[in-house]
Amino acid sequence: MPLVTTKEMFKDAYEKGYAIGAFNVDNVDTFKAVVRAAQETNSPVIVAVSSGALKFIGKEYVRAMVDCALKTADVPIVLHLDHGKSVELCKECVDLGFSSVMIDASAYDFETNIAMTKEVVEYAHARGVVVESELGAIAGIEDDVNVDDKYGHFTHPDDVVEFVSRTGIDSLAIAIGTAHGAYKFKPGQKPQLRFDILEEIEQKLPGFPLVLHGASSVPQASLKVLNSYGGAMPEAIGIPEAMLSEAARHAVCKINVGTDLRVAYVGAMRKALCESPEKFDLKVFITPAMDAVCELVKDKITNVFGSAGHALK
Ligand SMILES: [Zn+2]
Repeated sequence: MPLVTTKEMFKDAYEKGYAIGAFNVDNVDTFKAVVRAAQETNSPVIVAVSSGALKFIGKEYVRAMVDCALKTADVPIVLHLDHGKSVELCKECVDLGFSSVMIDASAYDFETNIAMTKEVVEYAHARGVVVESELGAIAGIEDDVNVDDKYGHFTHPDDVVEFVSRTGIDSLAIAIGTAHGAYKFKPGQKPQLRFDILEEIEQKLPGFPLVLHGASSVPQASLKVLNSYGGAMPEAIGIPEAMLSEAARHAVCKINVGTDLRVAYVGAMRKALCESPEKFDLKVFITPAMDAVCELVKDKITNVFGSAGHALK
């Protein structure tokens, strides 16, 4: 199948009340595991590449690995730039052959955010590429994105109509309580998402796809593996999966997951390294890491986001 944009998949997801996972890949292993999971569940999938991952994997390699997958995959695949912090980077990824880019100018004031987003939209739309932009501050750390973790930085429902109509974006990332990284909540703090804000936003933008960032749930199973083999993160608290399913039934059509893949990958690799210290065949360590990522993504697709079986052919 050729690379697709999010247009058709978001329309179907919105109508049927499910969401599509945007999974952050950091290398060829995680990329292959994500595509395999989508294949095995017959689900559409968004492969998210951050600016850090783009640098780490290499720009030309990113496009080439996706081309390889497209030759055999029979599920729709979107290649998406996650958190493009500059107009230039977004344009570069459009030129590289990404089918979707996110311009993240949310740290700037409202007018600057609109101006930067609009410039990316004009460039991308002229080349058949869709654009996501962010309004409000999503807490936490993702690559070199830093946002103050202060209560009250949620997306204001009063701003969304103006932002969407003046920029012409295809989807909107909103801040309703998710956070990047593994420590989304302080110990003892009850994880919660502001569904009241989500409902207000979707009432103002009927039919418009919304995006949730920082939606790792840090599953206990993979955290346990990581903690059993060094590198403990006992206080990591993610977003409860039931809340993500609820958001998917609302107007949220794209849910971003990065941390969960890293925890699964590194945990499984550490386990294999500890259990087979005498071996130095790479496959012994990398295969279980890839399998762990694949199983995690399949679980999200099937049991949390509800996109299994929804691959549009
Ligand atoms: Zn994000």
